[in-house]
Amino acid sequence: MMKSLVFLYPSAPAFLLALQHMRNNRTELFSLMMEEVQRYAIFTISTNGIITTWNKGSESLMGYTKEEAVGKPLATLFPEMVENGHLQEDIKNAIENGQYEHTTLLVTKNKQKLSVKCVVTALWKNDNELKGFSKIVHTIAPQEISDKNREELLSLAGHELKNPITSIKAYLQLLELKLIKKKDTELVPTVSKAISQVDKLNHLLKDMLDTSRIAIGSLPYHDTGDVYLDEFLENLLETIRVTYPHNKFHLHTKRHLLLYHIDRERLEQVIINLLRNAIQYSREKDPINIAADKTSSDILVSVSDKGIGISKKELKNIFDKFYRGNNAKKINQGLGLGLHVAQEIVHHYGGKIWVESTKGKGSTFFISLPIQSSYRQD
Ligand code: ADP
Repeated sequence: MMKSLVFLYPSAPAFLLALQHMRNNRTELFSLMMEEVQRYAIFTISTNGIITTWNKGSESLMGYTKEEAVGKPLATLFPEMVENGHLQEDIKNAIENGQYEHTTLLVTKNKQKLSVKCVVTALWKNDNELKGFSKIVHTIAPQEISDKNREELLSLAGHELKNPITSIKAYLQLLELKLIKKKDTELVPTVSKAISQVDKLNHLLKDMLDTSRIAIGSLPYHDTGDVYLDEFLENLLETIRVTYPHNKFHLHTKRHLLLYHIDRERLEQVIINLLRNAIQYSREKDPINIAADKTSSDILVSVSDKGIGISKKELKNIFDKFYRGNNAKKINQGLGLGLHVAQEIVHHYGGKIWVESTKGKGSTFFISLPIQSSYRQD
């Protein structure tokens, strides 16, 4: 580069001139870019709040022309920003942290309200002289707004529906206890059935909410600490045995299989989804085997049943969202979401989930979780 410039401008003053020319050109290009950008409003404000530059994006987003904006106090064009304290907050945060990013509501010249994202930057000269502020504003895409609303709606629906379902179950369990005490053998089975239907409802609701969250990439995980998988499975089976007293479950596990930094609830959700399927798609008298072990690199869990099995053709689809096999349609009315959610959780931890099955003979679902991210050897 240098060589070719010296070749073009052989004398030293000519070379310096060329450099100056390049610098001017660069500054001009930079100002032109700022001016011309349409999708982003970019403008600057002096330390006393007067608008000093205003690009085309500012004009198209906020409605004021350059002539109407430059030289005016920002507070005059956007009085709402002063009233709700946002202007003061922007400036305070930008000075304290150098830059301040946030989402806010903007009222345009024609009183339209827009959800926007802003970045306010304090402009310092030589690190000690505050010259003003720049503000970059852009509208939030409708998709982003609807995703946010959907997420809010989902958590609201989740909470609002979960509470009554939990209460209904508690009342039914109380009723069941009272009936057992009174030795009312006629009504006890009916109430037990009602309890298991409530459980089913709860389960479906959870899968539905989680599937929607997966779709917008916001399934929450909480690090609930370390989990000894062997003890965890024993406890889980104890609860399952209460709900399904007529099924036979056998647990085969190595001791001290430690998973750490895992979300206990999500892990439980995966295993329960597999167990529920094993229960639903096999006969009560056929045993269900749960095994846990480790290889040099992974922890392996399997849930095995001797039920209806899955045809070769359908095997490749069963982890898809809303997929229900023909084998299942005859048996129950699921949503085809359990395996999709389980797969998502296992993948979140860098693991794998797969199935081996023979139609008419049974299925074994496997989960492997990598030791590196989930397992610590004692
Ligand atoms: P659902 O059980 O509500 O249909 P899942 O996502 O849990 O949804 O399962 C998807 C499909 O995979 C089921 O419809 C069924 O065809 C098949 N499947 C899952 N587990 C088993 C199993 N243990 N035995 C036979 N088929 C199974």
